[in-house]
Amino acid sequence: MIQKIKGTMDILPDETPLFRYIEGIMREEAQKFGFGEIRLPTFELTELFVRGVGDTTDVVQKEMYTFRDGDDSITLRPEGTAGVARALIENGKYGDTMPQKYYYIMSCFRHEKPQAGRTREFFQFGTEMFGADTPAADATIIALAAAVFRRLGLKNVKLHLNSIGCPACRPAFRGALTEHFSAHTGELCDTCRDRLSRNPLRLLDCKSPICSAIAKKAPRTVDHLCPDCAAHFDALCKCLDAMGIDYVVDPSIVRGLDYYTRTVFEFVAEGIGAQSTVCGGGRYDGLVESLGGPKLSGIGFGMGITRVILALEQAGLATIEPVRPRLYIATLGDAAVPVALSLAERLRGEGAYVECDVVGRSLKAQMKYANKLGADYTLILGDSEIESGKAALRDMKNSEQSEVDIANFKL
Ligand code: ATP
Ligand code: MG
Repeated sequence: MIQKIKGTMDILPDETPLFRYIEGIMREEAQKFGFGEIRLPTFELTELFVRGVGDTTDVVQKEMYTFRDGDDSITLRPEGTAGVARALIENGKYGDTMPQKYYYIMSCFRHEKPQAGRTREFFQFGTEMFGADTPAADATIIALAAAVFRRLGLKNVKLHLNSIGCPACRPAFRGALTEHFSAHTGELCDTCRDRLSRNPLRLLDCKSPICSAIAKKAPRTVDHLCPDCAAHFDALCKCLDAMGIDYVVDPSIVRGLDYYTRTVFEFVAEGIGAQSTVCGGGRYDGLVESLGGPKLSGIGFGMGITRVILALEQAGLATIEPVRPRLYIATLGDAAVPVALSLAERLRGEGAYVECDVVGRSLKAQMKYANKLGADYTLILGDSEIESGKAALRDMKNSEQSEVDIANFKL
């Protein structure tokens, strides 16, 4: 028996309505903020992610699905931002009116250890806004994520906010970090020991218990911001306050990707287990330029759809009423089948969800099945109904029957 690849999922018809409901809210909220949908290739040149995500990140160092295609090295997209930035540059969109606002709902691929809330193919709702570097832009992106959680009714999702500064304040902070971690070189995991000289900021994001314990006592970015970054962060907080969006300033948030500058944030769902970050994002003012485009600021987030589902389940908000047929047409005898099919065809053409028997059930079994589907009405067609052109329409709620003209009745 061939089984699906570890860490992938089958989403069956009784589960897709929940996905569609959540994705519908994401699309509607993105629309309200003026974000347009972008659809991108599933795979890109590996180089895009090495440069766009950063070669000292967990994603690039450990998690990418990379393969050769002739002379090219290709990678299944592990995230969306680098691809959107590439598309912006490649399609010359940096020449259009700013800001450029994009959203996507797509699967991403990371070779990690599968567990609840962590799969190897996962689904992300992402947004990116280019060419807007004000605190108001940061507040707008955060407000969009918050609006999705509000619409979904999730009350226990908390916004954690931090600033990691810019290239101007980074050197001093890097120095302080290197000093802190160097005192613990012997205790660090192999990856972190290697990253210490290349990018000590990454060590703040390591998930190994020892490294994260050392990281807890590390210097805080917010204490090392240059005056511009400090003013930006302060103004963002004021915008969020004015919008009524609650947050906590959390110095442990640094984000896993290399291209972040200034604002970084995560939405954390309490009570859904270890994988509780339902959304992560931040400002990436260096990204477009590092991919060969012009100097252009950017900010965005990625929201994990299956983690949102875990949060909805935990809050008891994950049940979606199945769609029920308006009419079930039961048939008695072979002659009724084409009549039932043609009636169903007409009513579907008029917009109704109509079912009729396709497995040759007995009349009794058909009525039982109609009940199971939760049909609003049933109609029984047999030889005498076909002859008279009239049939009994039964209202399944109150069992009331009324005679209808088969050729003309409407639902
Ligand atoms: P984590 O720290 O949980 O590994 P991350 O920092 O690697 O997250 P991002 O790259 O910021 O994650 O991705 C944005 C969002 O996508 C995450 O906040 C999470 O909700 C979701 N996500 C990331 N990786 C996975 C995965 N393997 N399975 C399911 N959802 C994921
Ligand atoms: Mg990760």
